[in-house]
Amino acid sequence: MFIITVDIEKCQGCGDCVENCPQQLIVLVEENGKKYAVYSGSPDDCIGCMSCETCEENAITITEI
Ligand code: SF4
Ligand code: SF4
Repeated sequence: MFIITVDIEKCQGCGDCVENCPQQLIVLVEENGKKYAVYSGSPDDCIGCMSCETCEENAITITEI
């Protein structure tokens, strides 16, 4: 199982991780005019492919549990 965390201070809301996740587990949300990515699944859903960790802002951390 994997825990996906997004550092919303680093996230620029580009949506690359949303497009790259083959399981469609990441969504963009908007709050106070700022867009950022949020992991929307459970730890069981992520297959650990690491596609989202290619974030150019280095905002995503994948931890295996
Ligand atoms: S790829 Fe990185 S900067 Fe872009 S939305 Fe995802 S976490 Fe944010
Ligand atoms: S590691 Fe792969 S399956 Fe898991 S959230 Fe990132 S892109 Fe999606």
